[in-house]
Amino acid sequence: MRFIADAMLGKLARWLRLMGYSGDYSTDQGDDELLTRAKERTLLTRDRALYGRAKSEGLSAILISEGGIKGQLMQLKEDVELVLRDTPELARCPMCNGRLEGMEKEKIKETVPEGISNFFKCRACENVYWEGLHWKNIKETIKDVKTRGKDV
Ligand SMILES: [Zn+2]
Repeated sequence: MRFIADAMLGKLARWLRLMGYSGDYSTDQGDDELLTRAKERTLLTRDRALYGRAKSEGLSAILISEGGIKGQLMQLKEDVELVLRDTPELARCPMCNGRLEGMEKEKIKETVPEGISNFFKCRACENVYWEGLHWKNIKETIKDVKTRGKDV
């Protein structure tokens, strides 16, 4: 599943990338550009008017009603049966949407915490990531969304 997020949904776009989905996002895309790009992707927007335009043009679009990230992930899970993944091996670069590849610890220049064994580098922007405390938080958030019932 490939998405394009409007300027208000940068956080959601980063979460989609972390879960391994292509999440197109930039703050300088106007409505027309978003709609053009939405021909190949599902548009995620909080803008009711933009959502209406997308729908009238027969595009795939989701009106995100929730403000918080958990609620937004829950909405995608329910609306398009988005599979919430917490596998760092599948993640995309949260900064640029590039694909990540595994990396050997010896090649890391940055100081990394002890006990970390999984390293990744973005093929596009060359940012380096590792599976640390941050991923524990991501996993907890995803687990929380997965286990929360509809009626909560
Ligand atoms: Zn990157």
